Amino acid sequence: MDNKKRVLIVGSGILGNTLAYWLSGIPKINVTVIEKEADTSLHTTSRNTGMIHRPFYMNPEKKAVLAKSASISYHLWKSFAHNFNMPWNEVGTLEVAKTELQVKTLEKYSKWAIQNGIDEKDMALLNREEVKKLERKVSAPGGILSKTDTSTDYGAISGKICEINRKNGVTYLFNTRVEHIYDQKQFIEYSVNGSKQPDKINYDLIINAAGNRSIDLAHQVGIHKDLSILYFRGEYWKLDDDLKGFVEHNIYSVADNPEFPFLDPHLILRPDGSLEIGPNAVPVGGPYSYREGTLRNFEISPLFKRPLLPKVSLFFNSQFLNLAMTEWESSISQRKMIQRINSFIPGMDYRRARTRGFSGIRGSLIDKNGFIPETIVAKTDTSIHILNYNSPGATGAPYFSYLVMKSLQQNGFLVEGQIGSTFSNNIWKNVNEFEYGPELKLF
Ligand SMILES: Cc1cc2nc3c(=O)[nH]c(=O)nc-3n(C[C@H](O)[C@H](O)[C@H](O)COP(=O)(O)OP(=O)(O)OC[C@H]3O[C@@H](n4cnc5c(N)ncnc54)[C@H](O)[C@@H]3O)c2cc1C
Repeated sequence: MDNKKRVLIVGSGILGNTLAYWLSGIPKINVTVIEKEADTSLHTTSRNTGMIHRPFYMNPEKKAVLAKSASISYHLWKSFAHNFNMPWNEVGTLEVAKTELQVKTLEKYSKWAIQNGIDEKDMALLNREEVKKLERKVSAPGGILSKTDTSTDYGAISGKICEINRKNGVTYLFNTRVEHIYDQKQFIEYSVNGSKQPDKINYDLIINAAGNRSIDLAHQVGIHKDLSILYFRGEYWKLDDDLKGFVEHNIYSVADNPEFPFLDPHLILRPDGSLEIGPNAVPVGGPYSYREGTLRNFEISPLFKRPLLPKVSLFFNSQFLNLAMTEWESSISQRKMIQRINSFIPGMDYRRARTRGFSGIRGSLIDKNGFIPETIVAKTDTSIHILNYNSPGATGAPYFSYLVMKSLQQNGFLVEGQIGSTFSNNIWKNVNEFEYGPELKLF
């Protein structure tokens, strides 16, 4: 080859694709994305709520990186959707309190919203009457309206970025699974679907963006061997078509168990205006156990993967076990699922949710003290590993990937030259216009 440095990215989800985008704009780098599936973005990127979340509900101190990434990326996705004619339905989200105590949480959210760079005019705190006036089917002691939350199709936009990347010279190897990273010797072993013998590729830098599998690859190079992973299936139920217009905004509620990393099910508007309820968070065996309401696809082996201590500790936590039971019930019965939103949408009849939507799997990292709240970026001299990249990860992908690139440059780690200097058409050349707050460093 030429004198270009070889960067491998594992995973062609929204994270791998946005990373490849920024990297392909830097001179003297050859970017290859390796994806085990036959096409891009077939896993979590296409199996989610599809919301561009404004980060009003995120603690700016504890979740600084994901909150800032989501905040700035909203503007990047907006221009992207406009320029490439992608789904963009700015429906807004009404998040309601279920108790008087939770009204205090909403007041806290309205402060966090401003700290997280959201324009004051895009948010409104509402009392009981104002909630009713906005959404007559909703009954709650208070709410917060985030006017610019947007419904989109992440699978479609990630696919478009993949297309742009290929035009910018990125090589995609589909049907190719990275089996092992040998970081000391700087090569990977991979297998192409159907082949018996694994093959090798050398690299100068490898970026592990393998979603629910990224922790397995990180363990191979000795990173975070103290962390374990648990998988939760988020399921959706579709509401009958004639219910279109039942509500005009997404309706979320304040999470009852904020110490666990998932939100309670909500009523969501898809870009075409159809309504769904979900997701729940059903504990399942493996990263791709998509079959809803059944134990089919249930993989046992990941449950016994080391380290076991974090998982054993959690299975002695009665609050977690009770929650897991509720989630399982709502997986088997749509009645139980709909009951979870009846406390704030009393008129929603469970018989109007007849069909299941798709499901998505969230992998959550745990240590012996419980769930890890933030994304982890870990590195060796020649590899970067992005772990626990969960919601609102799809929202935050363009800016988060930009931060990875900036951190690589600040460390003198491989990349030279101005980001974006080799693009003929830099789709996010306005990225610095939206900067706010202190500069964030990932490593
Ligand atoms: C139920 C649910 C709802 C959500 N809702 C939202 C939302 O509304 N808004 C939002 O912003 N975020 C949401 N999220 C989070 C968001 O979807 C994720 O943060 C994001 O999609 C993660 O993207 P990714 O590229 O890291 O992972 P993925 O899309 O899973 O991509 C990883 C890729 O790596 C590949 N891979 C894995 N191992 C290997 C290997 N060994 N070799 C080669 N390839 C490999 C996989 O095949 C996959 O294509 C939701 C998540 C869930 C589960």
